[in-house]
Amino acid sequence: MFVASIIADIDLLMPSLLEHRGPTHSIILFLAIAFPSILVWKKQAIPYLAAFASHPFLGDYLTASAAEGLQLFFPLSSTWFSGGSEAALLTYAYLELALFIAFLTLMLTTRDIMTLIKHHSSNLLLAIPISTALLPVFLRFPLPVRPILIIPHLILLILLALPIFIDLKHFIYRQHIF
Ligand SMILES: [Zn+2]
Repeated sequence: MFVASIIADIDLLMPSLLEHRGPTHSIILFLAIAFPSILVWKKQAIPYLAAFASHPFLGDYLTASAAEGLQLFFPLSSTWFSGGSEAALLTYAYLELALFIAFLTLMLTTRDIMTLIKHHSSNLLLAIPISTALLPVFLRFPLPVRPILIIPHLILLILLALPIFIDLKHFIYRQHIF
């Protein structure tokens, strides 16, 4: 689900091929993925599709400034849409902080956090959210993240990197390298 929530930003890794927030952030593409997924995996697909949709249609649509926007109806239309306004952006930052606190509380109270930091063959997939969304933020100057979101960003970066290190440790021990 972490990967599904960030997979639309895979366009950042292929800038010569895809414009950022372009075709991968389209409702048409989402529906083209959603229908067959529901047919094949039924109810099981819903959390993953919700995670996928939350990124472009909630996060990006609300936070993209009017100058940026998303190609919501690609390939039917190449117009860029945005629900963001400079005045609303600070409100969204607080909303994001509130959602992050809710996420962390839920992860801790349900002990899902223990599942996350266990060795699992899919842990390496977490390199996708790290390399597309979290890490690039800290490689830019000035930081594109609002100051109140820096700590949540760092916590999320550590939380997603930890399972990868656990997997690498598991791999190293299994190979008897040390
Ligand atoms: Zn995006």
